Amino acid sequence: MRFSRIGAAILVVSFVMALAAWVSTGAAAPASAPPSSNLPETARATAASLRDGALGGTRAFDIVRSLTTEIGPRPAGSVALRAAADWGVRTMRGLGFQNVRTEPVTVPHWVRGQESGQILSPWPQPMVLTALGGSVGTPEGGLEAEVVSFGSLEELDKADPARVKGKIVFLDKKMERAKDAAVGYRATVPIRSSGPAHAAKLGAAGVLIRSVATDHNRTPHTGGTRYEEGGTRIPAAALSVPDADLLAAEIASGKPVRFRLKLGARALPEEPAANVIGEILGREKPDEIVLLACHLDSWDLGTGAIDDAAGCGIMMEAARRIGELKQHPRRTIRVILYANEEFGLSGARAYAQAHQAELAKHMLAGESDFGSGKVWRASSRVGPEALGRFAEIAALLAPIGVAPGDNDAGGGADLSPMAPAHVPLVGLSQDGTYYFDWHHTSNDTLDKIDPKDLDQNVAAWAALAYAAAEMPGDFGRAPEGEGHE
Ligand code: ZN
Ligand code: ZN
Repeated sequence: MRFSRIGAAILVVSFVMALAAWVSTGAAAPASAPPSSNLPETARATAASLRDGALGGTRAFDIVRSLTTEIGPRPAGSVALRAAADWGVRTMRGLGFQNVRTEPVTVPHWVRGQESGQILSPWPQPMVLTALGGSVGTPEGGLEAEVVSFGSLEELDKADPARVKGKIVFLDKKMERAKDAAVGYRATVPIRSSGPAHAAKLGAAGVLIRSVATDHNRTPHTGGTRYEEGGTRIPAAALSVPDADLLAAEIASGKPVRFRLKLGARALPEEPAANVIGEILGREKPDEIVLLACHLDSWDLGTGAIDDAAGCGIMMEAARRIGELKQHPRRTIRVILYANEEFGLSGARAYAQAHQAELAKHMLAGESDFGSGKVWRASSRVGPEALGRFAEIAALLAPIGVAPGDNDAGGGADLSPMAPAHVPLVGLSQDGTYYFDWHHTSNDTLDKIDPKDLDQNVAAWAALAYAAAEMPGDFGRAPEGEGHE
């Protein structure tokens, strides 16, 4: 994880200043109130009741069940993704959202086709694999070549091109299991996202990666890969973890290993899709927006329960509960179900462009895109003058096990196109211990969602969004930086 030193220093300074201000008043503040308090006591009480009420049970799981059962897999460009947008409109209207609408997006359309792989020698074995999203297919009859193995992208980059030319590059890097996504995933995912581009530069004929995953099932994990603009495009697939182990064992024998890879993957013309938007209108400042995001699309292999029906269930239900209050908060809560996160963020880009003039009025934005694992940390990316205000919000989540984080949040992939407008961000880190057992596989299904954990997420987002929408004063503008998840 990349903590920003400046962000951490600002946090410490602002905390010390707040503490000094509190000590100097000499007043005995109530135990629940943070040292300096901008949020009125009644608003704090409402946020707390939203938080505690959600722990008693919410509709989030029903929303996730509905999307995964009635729509199922909904990759970019599919008919199912358009059906999912209709589902979003119908469901948001049914839940009482205001201004429910769609906005047009054009998305890529890539299809997987038939795929297979086998070790031909020294010891023939069938291999379980799946194409990386965006991969080109192999020639008719498949690609047959010797395999050359590397432990990391850095090791590949140092290789003599003569060793790689015409071969299938095997990127064999293991992912560590960790609660913090930044630890295992971030360190490993470059073999998938840019491994094929790097190998192509050295003249490789194809790429196999060890799945970016923590399970030991014969279930390969897909995910997007990016070729270099104008560069050679070579076929690329992920082996399941046990298959990667098997291939590594044959390579370790020292005998040359030959492999046949057959991928029927291909790109089709772009297709129309839609972002879906619904609002809980603010009572005083309806033009000021607290944005809650998720993505509607999924990979083709599973039903996209953890990625990202869960996020949509959490955000829709958190906002719905705020909408049920006798009095709406001062600002508008806007929920966006983005059309296409997995295949190049086209939903998020279309939104940032269409709403450019309005982004200065986006006061705080967050995305839920990490399954149902419990929230354990609240990070921000707000103006330095607003750190105290965000700390007040984070303190509201302490009773449900959420610790304050740093001011270096990334906020979620779909929020990245708004970075040039410096929209302030919030990131709620979720427990990722098991997430990468199922992520981007045929095993991403409803049974992986724990309804109780999902409710804890709703509790956190509902309290946070309400408090942000009610907060006197704003969150400044986000400082530069990429941030962590
Ligand atoms: Zn994903
Ligand atoms: Zn996702």
